[in-house]
Amino acid sequence: MADQVLVTLDGQVRDVDEPLLHVDDLAVVRGDGVFETLLVRDGRACKLVLHLDRLEASASALELPWPGRGLWTRAVEAAAREWGNDREGWMRLVLSRGREAGGPPTAFVTVGPVGERVLRARRDGVSVVTLARGFSVDLAATAPWQLAGAKTLSYATNMAALRHAQARGADDVIFTSSEGRVLEGPRATVVIARGKTLITPPPEQSILAGTTQKALFEVAETKGYQCEYAPLFPSDLIVSEGVWLISSVTLAARVHTLDGLALPPSPAAEDVASMVETAVETVGVD
Ligand code: PLP
Repeated sequence: MADQVLVTLDGQVRDVDEPLLHVDDLAVVRGDGVFETLLVRDGRACKLVLHLDRLEASASALELPWPGRGLWTRAVEAAAREWGNDREGWMRLVLSRGREAGGPPTAFVTVGPVGERVLRARRDGVSVVTLARGFSVDLAATAPWQLAGAKTLSYATNMAALRHAQARGADDVIFTSSEGRVLEGPRATVVIARGKTLITPPPEQSILAGTTQKALFEVAETKGYQCEYAPLFPSDLIVSEGVWLISSVTLAARVHTLDGLALPPSPAAEDVASMVETAVETVGVD
């Protein structure tokens, strides 16, 4: 059983131990590209339609040539098939501008195992620190070249924030804007519960529109929850009845500790976990 799968956009399954990128690929030297992370379950890429929508929107924001959905779908299906259906997988779709010297974009799909950190976060929840992101919620509107809202390959800041949190004994991060509003995690969307209402910050506030949160809201609305996009402050997290970091592979990680403060158990915890499970299996399937 392969522990890593690589499929290029021509649909070819490649040997992961063979070189693929040139040293001047703009993904490598500039982080100039976009990507998606998907969960593979039962031999199928979850929420594929939502991820391809976002990949296309990100590519458009970077003015990258778009290879078309058909090629992506074929490569994703080949990679998921190659991974098999007996365990979950962590799939990445990567599209870079290609070589600095010119030529076609670079595009490929990989699948690897879902790590222990993810399983622990799903099971036990996470401790989180709030960290300043260093920009206003208006960034996307006032400086579109900052590419807020596009899922670019430039994740060095996000990874540095996670290391900073880990050095302080926390598992994860919730970023705040220069106005002190809640933005998102470095790799997840923030969702809170207030009774039977789920709330997340509006994507227009210079954050990535989460596919898992979107799918969760779609399911939650059929289960008697009201779902809202509204500005949040860290104090809203503290007085809420549940805070989660929601994302494609980790799914729902309940925040049990925020800036060292233990949050009470959430009455919505079981509902949110099961609604996210339903969401990733039923939403965005074409
Ligand atoms: N926000 C950021 C910055 C992310 O990197 C991610 C996921 O990678 C998300 C939010 C959640 O998005 P999704 O639910 O589509 O995985």
